Amino acid sequence: MVANSCKTPSNNRIKRPKALALLSGGLDSMLAVKLILEQGIDVEVVNFDTPFYRCDHCAINRFADELKLKVHSVFLAEALLEIVVNPLHGYGSQMNPCIDCRILMFKKAKELAEEICADFIVTGEVLNERPLSQREETMLLIDKEAGVEGKILRPLSAKLLPETEPEKKGQVDRDRLLALSGRRRLPQIELAKKLDLKSYPNPSGGCLLTDPRFAQRLREHLKNEKNLTVEDAELLTVGRHFRMDGAKIIVGRNEEENNRLLTIAKNRRIPYLEAADYTGPIALYVGEDSPDLREKAAAITVRYSDAPKDAPANVIFRVGTEKIVEMEARSIGEEELDAIRI
Ligand code: SF4
Repeated sequence: MVANSCKTPSNNRIKRPKALALLSGGLDSMLAVKLILEQGIDVEVVNFDTPFYRCDHCAINRFADELKLKVHSVFLAEALLEIVVNPLHGYGSQMNPCIDCRILMFKKAKELAEEICADFIVTGEVLNERPLSQREETMLLIDKEAGVEGKILRPLSAKLLPETEPEKKGQVDRDRLLALSGRRRLPQIELAKKLDLKSYPNPSGGCLLTDPRFAQRLREHLKNEKNLTVEDAELLTVGRHFRMDGAKIIVGRNEEENNRLLTIAKNRRIPYLEAADYTGPIALYVGEDSPDLREKAAAITVRYSDAPKDAPANVIFRVGTEKIVEMEARSIGEEELDAIRI
C-alpha cells in the first residue's frame, strides 16, 4: 500500500505505522479509530459524501479536533451515479448498491492511502451488522475487487476475520482487536464508555438509497429519464415531486427546502412558480413549456400555499429574478394531485 515515494527514516528509527481510517461520523467508525490510536499508530481519516448520503460533518470535525486527526473529505459524484444506475453486484433491499459503492470507496481510499503514505486502511465495519455488504464473504470480495486484499483492517470484528497484512507484519496487535458480530448495539455502547468516547451521534437513516420512498422516486426518475446526473440527484433529494406529461413539478415542503429550490432554480435557470399574494412554496418547473402544463403547475402551487382553496389566486412564473408571466389559478383537486404524485 505504501507508495514507493514514501520515505523511510534515514536513521535507525523504526517508522511508526500509519493508517487511513474511513470515518462516517457514526459510532462504529469512531470506535475503530480509537482502538487503532490506542496501539500507538498514526491515523488520518477520510469521509465520503455522496449525493444521497451526507456525513455528519459536525460529529466528524468534533471527533477529529479532539484527537488532532487530519480529515480528508471526498465527494463521490459521477462514479457513484453510474453504479446506482447499473450496479454490477445488484441492489440491496432498495436502490442501495452497497457492494459496488464500498468497492468504489475502497478504491478511492487506496489512492489516498498511497498519497499520504499510510500502511493500511481501517473501517468501522462490524461483521453481520448489515445483511448485504457486511457478511464475511462479501467483505472479502469487496477487498479483492477494490485491490486492497489484506489491507483493510476492521478492528471491531478483526478476530473473526482472516489475519490482515498489518497484523502479520506486527504493525497491529491482533490480540487487542475485537470479535464483535451482529446488529446488537450494546457492545459498542459499552466500548464507547470504556474508551471514554462521550459524544457520538445516534444511528440515523443515513443513506437515502436505502429509504423505500426515496427509492421509489429514483426508480420513477430512471424509468422516465433513463439517465441520472448530479443535478438530477440533487433535485431528487428535495421537495414533493409530481410528474405531468412532459414536465415535473418539485414543491418545497418547508423554508429550508424552499431556499434550496430557489438557489437551484437561480443557479441553473430553471423556471419556478410562487403565489403572488400569499405565503407558499417555491415550485420548480422542469421540462417542456406549454400553457396547459404551466396552468397545472400553478394549480399545484396554489394548493400548497396559504391561498383560499375555493377561489382563484395569482401565481407568478419566473426564470431567475425575471417575472415571465402572472396567471390566475385555482387549487388542484386532491384526486388529480394524487394521480400525478411520485
Ligand atoms: S448505504 Fe450502501 S449505497 Fe449507501 S453509502 Fe452506504 S454503502 Fe453506499
